[in-house]
Amino acid sequence: MDTASEIFSKVREEGRKFLLEPEAKSICKEYGIPVTDFRIAKNEAEAVSFADEIGYPVVLKIISPDVIHKSDVGGVIVGLKTAEDVRNAYNQIMENVKNHKPNAKIVGMLVQEMAPSSTEIIVGAIKDPQFGPALMFGLGGIFVEVLKDVTFRIAPLTRDEAEEMVKEVRAYPLLKGYRNTPPADIEAIVNILLNTSRLVMEHQEIKELDLNPIMVYEKGAKTVDARIIL
Ligand code: ADP
Ligand code: MG
Repeated sequence: MDTASEIFSKVREEGRKFLLEPEAKSICKEYGIPVTDFRIAKNEAEAVSFADEIGYPVVLKIISPDVIHKSDVGGVIVGLKTAEDVRNAYNQIMENVKNHKPNAKIVGMLVQEMAPSSTEIIVGAIKDPQFGPALMFGLGGIFVEVLKDVTFRIAPLTRDEAEEMVKEVRAYPLLKGYRNTPPADIEAIVNILLNTSRLVMEHQEIKELDLNPIMVYEKGAKTVDARIIL
């Protein structure tokens, strides 16, 4: 069985409704969607040795089936530059989660490469009861949240449709570069849309998928957070 099918059946068996971030990112990776490098630490010492392996700066995040919005419970700390930062963040996150959600089951701590900030995009998918899976695209932050500058297509996407999606948002000119910001790798975005389309077509159990944000660079892109809901 492929990684995605294995993960989906495990999640179903455990009666869970959403995937843990490392599960969602493993599936993304399998489908050729670029994600930040990550390891799952079981204790503070492991978190430090994984951070050394990945290379600083790193990000620490709580992994819990009871926490869907990790930063809401103080479960994300970014910009950790040293082993000492990692140790402090590990303990701080454990304490934050205990305070916000005393009964949360903790699976481990996600140690992750910190993606340099850049132009942020969002790729999403929802399953419409009538039309089946549909893809969403937009630029991150105010463009989606305030201006609702997003575009949709029914899956499966063709390459032409994926290219159209990228070009039809009002914020598109920003992707072509402005002032000190270099142009974004449009082909990388198109490939993410196509791979996400393939993923939701092949796994109809996905009710909602959210790659938010994805940092797009001059060359390549990196998904910083991935959520999949069944
Ligand atoms: P939440 O479950 O709260 O949505 P996220 O994983 O999205 O948690 O983390 C919250 C925010 O922290 C992200 O929106 C992003 O701004 C920042 N962040 C998280 N992971 C990384 C990373 N690997 N590199 C850079 N920034 C990150
Ligand atoms: Mg997020």
